[in-house]
Amino acid sequence: MDYQNMKHEHHENHSRQKSGHQNHGEGGHQGHGGDHSNHHEMMARDFKRRFFIGAIVTIPILVLSPTIQNWLGFAVPGFPGDKFFLAGLASVVALWASWPFYVNALSELRKKTLGMMVLVSLAVGVGYLYSLSTTFLIEAPDFYWEISTLAVVLLFGHWMEMRAVVGASGSLKELVKLIPPKANKVAGDDIAEVETETLLVDDIILIRPGEKVPVDAVVLDGESSVNEALLTGESKPVGKKAGDGLIGGSLNIDGSLKARVLKIGKDTALSQIVELVKNAQSSKPKTQRLADKAAHYLTLTAIIVGVLTFFFWNFLLGASFVFALTLAITVIVITCPHALGLAIPTVTTISSALAAKHGILIKNMDGLEKARDVDWIIFDKTGTLTKGEFGVSDVIEIRDGKFKTDNNGATSKILQIAASLENHSEHVIAKAVVAAAKTRGLKLLDIKNAKAIPGKGISGIFDNAEVIIGTGRLMAERSVTIAEGQAGKANELERQGKTVVYLALDKQIAGMIALSDLIKEESKAAIQNLKDMGVKVAMLTGDNKETAAYVAEALGLDHFFAEVLPGDKVNAVRELQRKGSTVMMVGDGVNDAPALTQADVGVAIGAGTDVAIESAEIVLVKNNPQDIVRLIRLSRKTTAKMKQNLAWATGYNIVAIPLAAGVLAGYGILLRPEWGALAMTASSIIVVFNALLLRKAKLSV
Ligand code: ADP
Ligand code: MG
Repeated sequence: MDYQNMKHEHHENHSRQKSGHQNHGEGGHQGHGGDHSNHHEMMARDFKRRFFIGAIVTIPILVLSPTIQNWLGFAVPGFPGDKFFLAGLASVVALWASWPFYVNALSELRKKTLGMMVLVSLAVGVGYLYSLSTTFLIEAPDFYWEISTLAVVLLFGHWMEMRAVVGASGSLKELVKLIPPKANKVAGDDIAEVETETLLVDDIILIRPGEKVPVDAVVLDGESSVNEALLTGESKPVGKKAGDGLIGGSLNIDGSLKARVLKIGKDTALSQIVELVKNAQSSKPKTQRLADKAAHYLTLTAIIVGVLTFFFWNFLLGASFVFALTLAITVIVITCPHALGLAIPTVTTISSALAAKHGILIKNMDGLEKARDVDWIIFDKTGTLTKGEFGVSDVIEIRDGKFKTDNNGATSKILQIAASLENHSEHVIAKAVVAAAKTRGLKLLDIKNAKAIPGKGISGIFDNAEVIIGTGRLMAERSVTIAEGQAGKANELERQGKTVVYLALDKQIAGMIALSDLIKEESKAAIQNLKDMGVKVAMLTGDNKETAAYVAEALGLDHFFAEVLPGDKVNAVRELQRKGSTVMMVGDGVNDAPALTQADVGVAIGAGTDVAIESAEIVLVKNNPQDIVRLIRLSRKTTAKMKQNLAWATGYNIVAIPLAAGVLAGYGILLRPEWGALAMTASSIIVVFNALLLRKAKLSV
């Protein structure tokens, strides 16, 4: 019953820490999160039942009330005990149907907050008790039909709210359903069907055509195409062969695949996506805190104005007790910040579900809110704006000050030494060099003392000679002189957008290797879109200035930071922030983590890979810069909706409270409680409707 309470606990939990994610590894919480949607489903069913029964019971209450008869111009003949019958019917609504309101009001009071449940309970409770007294004790009109309609309307609102929440978490359930319950485990020549949960890391599994991949795995044998659409939004099937990764939940289409299990249970990409979306839906945007505060003050206002209204009319102006009480109850009813309670959560649930559909996972609603007004977006170059798949394009050997650029054997020695050393590095450049040597059938040589120098290169000992591979800066640091002609040759290649690394043997430049990385097709359009939206775009890279300038020029960037060491990336973000800009950083999260944290909005690209997404507010499942455009569109639309809803929900009260208090009573303008209830419902419905419009929002570019 305690759903308000429950929501608040969630909110507090998550707003305290930047990353809700780490919460989940610690156990306990996951079960809690899992109950969450079931709980809401139960709540939705409960409110639905109370609403329908309440509504059915309210019909005879309306028919029996003189006001309604008066309005509609009919009369129901009295019958013996009709007064008691009416009181009985009203009791069903005011006691049984309204029960959740009282329970929640109590828990609000226990937490020393004055939420809308306190107000609702007050309005219904006071109205009901007073009406009872008119039935049994005093001669005065009752409030039965007003409180009944009020309760029914509120129950409807709560039912709708719960349904919205369940609907949004429904998309999560769909995700979880992607995991097939059974898997084929291979043991020697045997293939046994086992429960997916029993699989362990390093188990070998078989995925037949048409079957779903049970857990994250790596292909050992076989070739197939796999549909990963539900996880990545990418509808084209992806080709898979030995060495490729498989995501649990994706659909194997045409080939049979043998694979080794990489991740199980909550470590799988799918589980992490589910967790992220769950967290987002319970994370609290700043606007929500504003709404909570407003609700608190409105409740306080309602009670104070209600009491004052009563005293003012009854004692000071000498109006009748009934008239004064009617006004007081109207004030309380009308001030019910019901629309305010709906204003933000409805928008939040819809927008995070909408985002997830586009492969945008929002870890923190605050991040989504801030994305709206970023001034600068800094993209990491490699792997974000470019494909991050390097290929060796030129191998140049330098002997006696002359360049040898013949790639067919003459320069093999350089490539061979380079690859032997790079074999000790994990860098994308290193992998490309090793791959190039392998295609040429070169044997890797023995290297001693290999040491990677992050953001610069790698060094080691080959045949008693020191080998260094890396940037010009690294060469300078190691007192290796680069001749003017050599630097000129490197620059020439760099101006073509290639990345050039030097190879030094015994402090002498012995060769250069140029690698090219392609700019993603989507990058250019995305950057144009962002600029059209009034956002400035910068690029951050450890690569040299010439290569960076080439990419920046090709993409039409506003600014670039080149030759930035991994530890200094955060300074680039700070530099822009110092000028008063709100900065979004988009990176693959590996060495970008500090920069992602420093940025006002950190966006990690590529969920399900290495989940270095702790430091980001938002995670993009796909590796597509156009998703940043979608993200900002969604953010702008979401924030606009929140503000509209907030303005509507509070603005309505500002007008209605004085009217209800009888400020214009002298001019014959007075708000009756029933009109108050009606206006309040209308305002709630408008708020929910407005939020629902977000579903239709076009984010596509
Ligand atoms: P990015 O910021 O583009 O991801 P890094 O910071 O990882 O790049 O590296 C910056 C530069 O340092 C690279 O462009 C390359 O010139 C050099 N570098 C780093 N590691 C290596 C390596 N293992 N081999 C050769 N060059 C390297
Ligand atoms: Mg990088």
